[in-house]
Amino acid sequence: MKAETSLAVISSAAITKEEENDAFREFLKVQDAGHVDTLVNVLNSQVEPLIDCTACGNCCRSLIINVEDKEADNLAAHLGLSRASFDEKYIEKSTGGIMAVNTIPCHFLSNNQCTVYEHRFADCRRFPNLHLPGFTNRLFASFMHYGRCPIVYNVIEYLKQEMNWQLP
Ligand code: SF4
Ligand code: SF4
Repeated sequence: MKAETSLAVISSAAITKEEENDAFREFLKVQDAGHVDTLVNVLNSQVEPLIDCTACGNCCRSLIINVEDKEADNLAAHLGLSRASFDEKYIEKSTGGIMAVNTIPCHFLSNNQCTVYEHRFADCRRFPNLHLPGFTNRLFASFMHYGRCPIVYNVIEYLKQEMNWQLP
């Protein structure tokens, strides 16, 4: 198996294959969800080792990262900040109380590396979420990341092949 790692190539493919990907997404919506999860899981475990996230870092440069209260407590303590100072510097709170890192790219990315790797948020650890069940319930989000994340791009391209799918 080979993997495409060029961000330029995958962002360009997201544009040229927009119609194809919309059609594939519609196709996936009516497939057996468990079967799709099994395929995505296997492909993800094959693709992930082929991608060097430390050479990419595109999610850290482009995503809104949600933060849980406990995670903010932990990182504030690690950085030697009071929770109030941490929130003031790094956190945006919605009116509903949902917290997110207040910059894109993320504050904690430096020279393409996460400077708080051991304390990074669950949102960062989970991304791109392909190991989780329920892929067909997250099609919009996953396809949104197609042109941004090489792991998502490659898993979706291999999924088309595995399912013998072609643009009708
Ligand atoms: S906390 Fe680290 S892993 Fe998470 S988005 Fe920021 S730089 Fe990336
Ligand atoms: S998860 Fe995707 S976007 Fe993030 S660093 Fe890895 S390959 Fe790049």
